[in-house]
Amino acid sequence: MTDPRRKLPAVDALLAEPGVVALLATHPRALVVKAVRDAVDGARAQGGKAPSEGWDAAVRAAVARMAVPSLAPVINATGVVLHTNLGRAPLAPAAIAALTRVARGYSALEYDLGRGARGSRHAHCRDLLVELTGAADALVVNNAAGAVLLALSALGRNGEAVVSRGELVEIGGSFRIPDIMARSGVRLVEVGTTNRTHLKDYESALTKNTRLLLKVHRSNFQVTGFTAEVGVGDIAGLAHGRALACLYDLGSGLLLDLSAWGLAGEPTLRGAVASGADLVAASGDKLLGGPQAGILLGTEAAIAACRADPLARAVRADKLTLAALEATLALYRDPETARREIPVLRMLTEAADGVKRRGEALCVPGRTELIKGESEVGGGSFPGATLQTWLVATRETDTARLRAWDPPIVARMLEGRVVLDPRTILPDQVEIVAAALRA
Ligand SMILES: *Cc1c(COP(=O)(O)O)cnc(C)c1O
Repeated sequence: MTDPRRKLPAVDALLAEPGVVALLATHPRALVVKAVRDAVDGARAQGGKAPSEGWDAAVRAAVARMAVPSLAPVINATGVVLHTNLGRAPLAPAAIAALTRVARGYSALEYDLGRGARGSRHAHCRDLLVELTGAADALVVNNAAGAVLLALSALGRNGEAVVSRGELVEIGGSFRIPDIMARSGVRLVEVGTTNRTHLKDYESALTKNTRLLLKVHRSNFQVTGFTAEVGVGDIAGLAHGRALACLYDLGSGLLLDLSAWGLAGEPTLRGAVASGADLVAASGDKLLGGPQAGILLGTEAAIAACRADPLARAVRADKLTLAALEATLALYRDPETARREIPVLRMLTEAADGVKRRGEALCVPGRTELIKGESEVGGGSFPGATLQTWLVATRETDTARLRAWDPPIVARMLEGRVVLDPRTILPDQVEIVAAALRA
């Protein structure tokens, strides 16, 4: 018997089939050739059987699969507002407009239009950050992890940094404070215990090699019970008494006090700056609601050291980020505008009534019910905080059907059922999700 795999059609023969030729009119030849190879490989893997749907259809399906961009928009129906796997913060219209304007052509990224000479990309966003946070100076980099790496290198390279054992955190995506400290060239000196660290622990760890004291905000978990931690103000005080620096890794970039909406306990950027740390590192997309970016706020000397560090070039922010961040920051000049225009803030502060109304618009009589539930802030911010919400509970027991929708809808499971949280479904997506639920 001959091996059936030998009977598979040649790639050139398939390329001459009328259905495949038609694909060449609308798709690049290289893509169609790749799809043909894919279909033939698929058949070979099946023991040499021709695809049951026919060669034309198999090639068409492969083309369709390969032609969609892999980074495609999805609808977030999970209720996790800052969902890191789903891109964290949807941008405000002003931020989208700003980055589109800059994307289209050239921009004054590193050009001083007043002097007609080379300028600095670090000038963008700097004044707004200073105005909004009270810091003496500011620097924007690629992300918050990069900001921490740069700050450690600039303030502590070849020296020791003292940090509480209770703050050696993992943020997710393999970002662990001890690992990043090792890469920055700073030796880590751990003090205290997991649950309790006192100022005297920091004090007795100081040596002639100590360069800085590090405070890490425990952004994604809570420690309760028999606990003690030293506030950043006291740590900064101790550092300055010994001519050392203090770095505060805050994580989230909260610019508005959200305690009126039940979200308390997360420090604002202004509060963190006022605590006296030489540098505060924060994120541009977590609670701030802008693009992925890292923000460093601090004294003129500390920010100057960061700018001068060779790592500053490696973690620098690009022009699209800077444009979107500048436009987002400008919205904060009026807190009410910020809350209305920045999607993350609007979702976090939306009352349950509003969420319920959108939930009602999603319900399919007889097939779904509206139940009380909780949304999550996400992004490792406000650990333990709960946002009352209304969930559309379906009878479906698998999220796969909604994930396969165009555009994909990402929902979550609750007690064996697929549930959708309207809090994170954007207003112009409600009709799409409703159609998916009716289907
Ligand atoms: C999230 C977080 C980071 C890292 O921020 P990215 O924006 O993901 O780079 C660093 N430190 C803390 C405390 C965080 O919560």
